[in-house]
Amino acid sequence: MLLADVALPVPVRRAFTYSVPDAMVARVVAGARVVCPFQARRLIGVVLSVRDGALPKGVRALAGAVDEEPAVPEDLLAFLRDLATYYFAPVGEVMRLALPPLERTTARELVEPNLFDDAHGLGDRSVQWIEATSTDGSSPARPGPQGDPASGEAALRGQAAAILAHVRAAGAQPVAKLEPRWGAVRAAAKRLAALGLVVLEKRQAPSDPFFAEPAVRDAPHEPTPSQTSAIEAIETAIGDGRGATFLLHGVTGSGKTEVYLRAIAAVRARDRGAIVLVPEIALTPQLVARFRARFGDEVAVLHSALTARERFAMWRKLRVGEVQVAIGARSALFAPVRALGLLIVDEEHDASFKQEEGVRYHARDMAIWRAHRASAVCVLGSATPSLESEHLARTGRAIRLRLPERARAQPLPRVEVVDLKRTGAGPTGDPRISMPLHRAIEDALRAHEQVILFLNRRGFAPSLRCEACGEIASCGACSVALTFHKRAAVVRCHYCDYEAPLLLRCAVCGAEALMLEGIGTEKLEDTLTAAFPQARVARLDRDVASGKKIEAVLARVRAREVDILVGTQMVAKGHDLPSVTLVGVVNADAALSIPDFRAAERAFQLLVQVAGRAGRGDVPGRVLIQTYNPRHPAIVLAAGHDVDSFLDRELADRRELEYPPLTRAALVRVDAVDEAVARAACTELGDAARACEEVRRGGVVVQGPAPAPIARVRARWRFRLMLRAMERTPLRSVLAAVEQARGSLARGVRASIDVDPVQLL
Ligand SMILES: [Zn+2]
Ligand SMILES: [Zn+2]
Repeated sequence: MLLADVALPVPVRRAFTYSVPDAMVARVVAGARVVCPFQARRLIGVVLSVRDGALPKGVRALAGAVDEEPAVPEDLLAFLRDLATYYFAPVGEVMRLALPPLERTTARELVEPNLFDDAHGLGDRSVQWIEATSTDGSSPARPGPQGDPASGEAALRGQAAAILAHVRAAGAQPVAKLEPRWGAVRAAAKRLAALGLVVLEKRQAPSDPFFAEPAVRDAPHEPTPSQTSAIEAIETAIGDGRGATFLLHGVTGSGKTEVYLRAIAAVRARDRGAIVLVPEIALTPQLVARFRARFGDEVAVLHSALTARERFAMWRKLRVGEVQVAIGARSALFAPVRALGLLIVDEEHDASFKQEEGVRYHARDMAIWRAHRASAVCVLGSATPSLESEHLARTGRAIRLRLPERARAQPLPRVEVVDLKRTGAGPTGDPRISMPLHRAIEDALRAHEQVILFLNRRGFAPSLRCEACGEIASCGACSVALTFHKRAAVVRCHYCDYEAPLLLRCAVCGAEALMLEGIGTEKLEDTLTAAFPQARVARLDRDVASGKKIEAVLARVRAREVDILVGTQMVAKGHDLPSVTLVGVVNADAALSIPDFRAAERAFQLLVQVAGRAGRGDVPGRVLIQTYNPRHPAIVLAAGHDVDSFLDRELADRRELEYPPLTRAALVRVDAVDEAVARAACTELGDAARACEEVRRGGVVVQGPAPAPIARVRARWRFRLMLRAMERTPLRSVLAAVEQARGSLARGVRASIDVDPVQLL
């Protein structure tokens, strides 16, 4: 009897066995999707393997086969199975990461188009475009119903006049592109069309917001000598075909992207594919535009704004090999690229590469792994390498390539540390805008240059304190202070998104004495608007920003329509804004005070990255870091752009304290509605771990149970165990014992294993 072992999308680690009806034998192969009867339902699973065997009792027959050819190619299937094992994750949930999106999840309703049938690309989607008619009579002049375009134009006012001027300057574009700036524009556009000043017409929509503008092909730039040697090393490794890992360590503005583009050209020349992982694709429109400019439609851009249908179309093109380059955030790791030859992880230090729910995988670590299995080259790029990647380079497991100078030979910005203990407030009276920062902003504005101010707290006031009893107003479901958002006139919990009208009364003592405390980006924006009335101030943070709005804010900055940009770490990402000459870090201490062994590393990376936004054009940049800890090594070394010394120091600390990357760690998280139940469950798992030989002999250290630093989230109490070991193998056997014990926990308790944890809060 032919049997298939199938991964089903259920939270169980094992696979399920089904018998294969004769009629399906040809289609039931490893990697194919099949319809499986499961209890009273039917589920779509992925075949892991097929074997001959005696029919075990109670085994049911498969109900159908979905694919003509396997949805998951063999190499990807093997990689996913190993990933599931490494992270102690249910194999069915891991498979889901790599499957094309299904709009319907139950098999009964499933009308899944065949993956290899080209009839399922994008449907007809046309959008309205606006284009100015020419005033000199050349094309595309098409006079409107009222004939001569000039007669009505003089009478135009306000929005319509501004739109006309913009369309004349910026060229043809979708009407929708005008909306972020002018709001409802359809009426004005119709008026302009009626006057014959513009033409409105339906055009076929590009499938994707990143494809909204036709890519202009660009020619490769002349590389600098260090870019050349990096490119040569990568090209040689690609030619070898044996696989290698590189750490591309280049200062901010050193032209890492050009190295990526050349490396992709080199794998494409050998007819192999590439995957490029970027931290948050919505923040990287410029990077995507450069890939599109070099490779045109040979690039599939995978991002969250795609509809399921568009995502499916992209997935299919990759699966059949029509497109061989994929770019996207961490989940692009699972793109079914054919003949994978290159994996690039840009800004590899970024914490967003770790998935923090469901399957808790780290896309950077797994990129190295997937590349290794495919004998492909992996390139990790950063100006501030993670300790993990630095450790790989220092132990010879990654080859370091350096880009020590900026590509256009601009100097790195001058960084000054402002000691807030000794420096008073500027004219605004707000101590967060010190006199030196105030003067520096004035100077930049006077010179018509742009300013970025970085503050890692969104909202208006990060907390509300009761003046009567001293209590801070906190979320009812989380042990987190409520943040006041002035624009929305609400208080919000940044952990569970609880929202309520502004509180007036203290929940503890009942006094009407709540005072706003601290400063968030909203308040900073208000303060700056009042202090510099001539300046145009804009804000970039999670409250402003869904994908399209981020792009609109950045476009305004690039178009010099903004003088001061205020924002959270979103402003620190790799934007290239040549007119920014001043960067101010309003409070460098917030990032340092987080209870996490990576706090110094994160603060350092953030400071270097945000400082790197200054002086990328022709005028040298200047950076002011405000702090109450001017002697903290992370601040001193960031001010000196001294990445190597920071890494030396931090690695020595980690070695001393036995923290990753010098040791292996895992976090066991437990939560429950009842505090005592959560604690007891965590104790039970801790006991299971401590019963292991590896722990008794000291090869694995178990800490806990301990309450998480944020003890309660979404009305659940959180406890955890931290496990550390010098070697991976003993740690894995202890985790296996914990996994075993997890099965017998009380109902309502959630427990998960996080291998190589990143987020410790
Ligand atoms: Zn009170
Ligand atoms: Zn909350």
